[in-house]
Amino acid sequence: MNLISIPAFQDNYIWVLVDDAHRCIIVDPGESTPVLHAIKENGWQPEAILLTHHHNDHVGGVPELCAHFPHLVVYGPKETQDKGATQIVEDGEKILIPGWEFSVFATPGHTSGHTCYYSNPYLFCGDTLFSGGCGRLFEGTPAQMHQSLQAINALPDDTLICCAHEYTLGNMKFAVSLLPEDRAIQDYYQKVKELRAKNQKTLPVILKNEREINLFLRTDDIDLINKINQETILKQPEERFAWLRSKKDNFR
Ligand code: ZN
Ligand code: FE
Repeated sequence: MNLISIPAFQDNYIWVLVDDAHRCIIVDPGESTPVLHAIKENGWQPEAILLTHHHNDHVGGVPELCAHFPHLVVYGPKETQDKGATQIVEDGEKILIPGWEFSVFATPGHTSGHTCYYSNPYLFCGDTLFSGGCGRLFEGTPAQMHQSLQAINALPDDTLICCAHEYTLGNMKFAVSLLPEDRAIQDYYQKVKELRAKNQKTLPVILKNEREINLFLRTDDIDLINKINQETILKQPEERFAWLRSKKDNFR
């Protein structure tokens, strides 16, 4: 199995899983042109599309891809029904595509129907978890997003996190501003700065490493709690998550 990320727009990645027979699954094709190009260049045979949520930078390329490959099955949550999804998926469901099996789990927060797809070790998490950060809360509540991130956090250590945006550098700038003394955060920030200076990708990341540097997964961390305590006392992890998210929303 081969995992490829195709850059799209400013900072999106369209993920493609390719098997040994060159059959492929495409995740969140926000635009079709780079995908069609890669299909042609590599001789892939697209089998299915997985959609995480209804935003245009994730679904915009669906009609064009389906026009080229009419047999394509497009899996997505209900909110993607009018964006080209042909198979509506629900939390807890298993998707069976010959040679592949994906677990579907609902991760509301960024949008209310946001959905992740997991096929060991790959997790396609759209705009829920980013490296060093998480998606903005457009439709869901902080408590929902916190719970969605906890569900991702419960996956195995070696899970490969395939997020839909290259936001890592900005996220780590924020993390360093909050916990400047944190060794793991400092080191990762340096590493990401170097990668981005050379225009290299920071994704995918391994869940085990992400737990060390992503404050949105560290809502029970004593250093973070101490930092929050300088401002306000928040007893519940989801309240600390909400504090963190609103700090990030206002971070420049
Ligand atoms: Zn989005
Ligand atoms: Fe997005």
